[in-house]
Amino acid sequence: MKVPMLDLHAQYEPLMRDIRAQLDKVFSNHHYIMGAQVKELEDKMQSYLGIKHAVGCASGTDALVLAIKALGIGHSDEVITTPFTFFATASSIWRNAARPVFADIDPRTFNLDPDKIEAAITPRTKAIMPVHLFGQSADMTRIMEIARKHDLKVIEDNAQGIGCTWDDKMSCSYGDIGTLSFFPSKNLGAMGDAGMCLTNDADLAARLRQLRVHGENPKYYHKWVGFNSRLDTLQAAILLVKLEALAGWSAARRANARFYNEHLAGVKGITTPYIDPKAVSIYNQYTLICDDRDGLMKHLQDKGVGCAIYYPLPLHLQECFSDLGYKAGDLPISEQMAQQVLSIPIYPELTDEQKLYVVNSIREYLI
Ligand SMILES: *Cc1c(COP(=O)(O)O)cnc(C)c1O
Repeated sequence: MKVPMLDLHAQYEPLMRDIRAQLDKVFSNHHYIMGAQVKELEDKMQSYLGIKHAVGCASGTDALVLAIKALGIGHSDEVITTPFTFFATASSIWRNAARPVFADIDPRTFNLDPDKIEAAITPRTKAIMPVHLFGQSADMTRIMEIARKHDLKVIEDNAQGIGCTWDDKMSCSYGDIGTLSFFPSKNLGAMGDAGMCLTNDADLAARLRQLRVHGENPKYYHKWVGFNSRLDTLQAAILLVKLEALAGWSAARRANARFYNEHLAGVKGITTPYIDPKAVSIYNQYTLICDDRDGLMKHLQDKGVGCAIYYPLPLHLQECFSDLGYKAGDLPISEQMAQQVLSIPIYPELTDEQKLYVVNSIREYLI
């Protein structure tokens, strides 16, 4: 048996008829830039997430770049974030000429540890950027408290957490702006790149809309130097079909996680994911902490079980950020987790046989 890390064939098979029909609608009018489907998707996303304004853009990375720019954060400003995340979290800060300042993570949730944030605040700090890693919200109660106390903006990098909640409230609705990615491996993936910003602030939404079209308003008049970062009409048409399935997919991922939790309970040498009682995860990843990660990974690969390391090198140690002056040992929990984490297949279409095969392959190595 083979169990891939993600099975897009299985995901798309039941949807292709509807997707082709939606694409045909676009082909009937050829409105490839800002066609009606973009607005339709933004409206649907607003109601799905219960947030007032959705602004589509070209990728999850661009959504972060736009969010930082819209908040007026730039040269020599500092943004506090986690080093244990995908690269774009920090590169979006850097690309706005601002400085990423890394605070360490909670070893149980892998998310920004609120206890580490205040020590990282300086007079130049403008914002905190938590990531809802692997589909579990960061502790937004504490992060918002700290932000209010120090008058900081909050940007939620929700690329991996669409629809996850904290204290019964949707991710993206705590901070000033939240961002989504529709990269194909995210829980709601397009057939290419796409992203979105969410905000309850009408002025910020207007600024984001302007920034994604070169900063122009009206046409050919530019208040800011913006970007060319629109959500493609064809991708919006595809996402409209897939959004209908998203709640079911999230439930299926949670059911898969329950299966793994039960069947891996008590197995020595691994720790199954810890979900905070206030969080409902959408399990973009199901990530184990392993005593012998590299050995287990090799074994699973030999057994045909897909697995992956998210992430092998924390961002404070990336070569491109060496000017920031961090060294090994500065953020020990992130560095330790980079050595110990292993994500296993959690996608909604997994069959019981596949899940059992994954579990048995793990047990075989560890018992
Ligand atoms: C995927 C991801 C992004 C970037 O999204 P793209 O759509 O690939 O540009 C940003 N942050 C995190 C945490 C991500 O997982």
